[in-house]
Amino acid sequence: MTPSIYSKLPHIGTTIFTVMSALSVKHNAINLGQGFPDFPMNEKLTSLVNEAMKSGYNQYVHMCGLPLLRERIAEKVNEDYNANVNPETDITVTPGGTYAIYTAFTTILQPGDEVILFEPAYDSYIPNIEINGGVAVSIPLEYPDYSINWDRVKEKVNGKTKAIIINTPHNPTGSVWSAEDIEQLRNIVSGTGIFIISDEVYEHLIFDNKKHLSILRYPDLFERSFVCFSFGKVYHCTGWKMGYCIAPEGMMKEFRKVHQFNCFTCNSPVQFALAQFLTEKNQYRELGVFLQSKRDYFKKLMEQTKFKPLPSFGSYFQLYDYSEVSQENENDFAIRLTQEAGVATIPVSAFYKTPVDNKVLRFCFAKKEETLEAAVERLVKGF
Ligand code: GLN
Repeated sequence: MTPSIYSKLPHIGTTIFTVMSALSVKHNAINLGQGFPDFPMNEKLTSLVNEAMKSGYNQYVHMCGLPLLRERIAEKVNEDYNANVNPETDITVTPGGTYAIYTAFTTILQPGDEVILFEPAYDSYIPNIEINGGVAVSIPLEYPDYSINWDRVKEKVNGKTKAIIINTPHNPTGSVWSAEDIEQLRNIVSGTGIFIISDEVYEHLIFDNKKHLSILRYPDLFERSFVCFSFGKVYHCTGWKMGYCIAPEGMMKEFRKVHQFNCFTCNSPVQFALAQFLTEKNQYRELGVFLQSKRDYFKKLMEQTKFKPLPSFGSYFQLYDYSEVSQENENDFAIRLTQEAGVATIPVSAFYKTPVDNKVLRFCFAKKEETLEAAVERLVKGF
């Protein structure tokens, strides 16, 4: 008899990002689906990695992350968010933001614990919760601005609620939290044992003079939070899979117990390079303006089509309504668009446990101008 697996994720298929990127390759499409830039990253940073490798920084660094890198991260967030993060006890460098989120869930969840999340939600959250025996409690964001109806959140909070996962700037919609959202969250969690997992990987990709309301700004919320960040989004190197998690000492101690027996520690030369590069603050402070110009350039080009934009205030993404083009459901239409027009996108229904069909697709605009131009040209021709 051969062994058989009793699946831990029986209802889960392959992530939509891999599915759409593979389809894009198959049909030689322009890939505006999976979120990654196609413009080059900073050469100074790649040179720093190269130097670190050549200088022999190729062995394990501290399991929580290179101490100098953690110091530089602490300096950055303490300055940007007026926080008081201790690099020794509160920061762990992780192989990407998704890993940080997974580890946070694994650290806190016991079977039967409930986690509140907002849909559309980044597609790893629910599997992360379920693989840890938790129960995902989904609250729909209000179409078309994808705001949170806080009364619905209050209705779902009960004695089993272990955590709320939040995400601003938001993937896939590009919505951004306001001070009012923070206040509502505060009202809900204060005096409870509810944890917050805050996905802030798009912290610097924020537009129209909006301010990123990091949980690190609010000591009373931070005391119950795991806050997750990504270097890939900040330095245009998503394939490096490098990020970090920040949490108060006692919580981080438990997080590190999980982390140490999973990946243990991250790529060393990249950490040496990032520690040096992080001192160049303009590199990330000017990012919002740069990505905003991409959003606007793409939006202007898209005026030639019948796709209608929904507002995006942050992230790599903008949603477009295609109801004037087709009445197909989002998944079918996204597939056909890849096959026939040669443009890959992500159907927003993939970010719901029970698919909702608003006839919107997510487009990644973090691309060279010529890529965006070529994609729109195909859309004009094909649809
Ligand atoms: N975060 C990226 C996106 O939303 C994808 C990352 C991945 O493919 N896992 O498109």
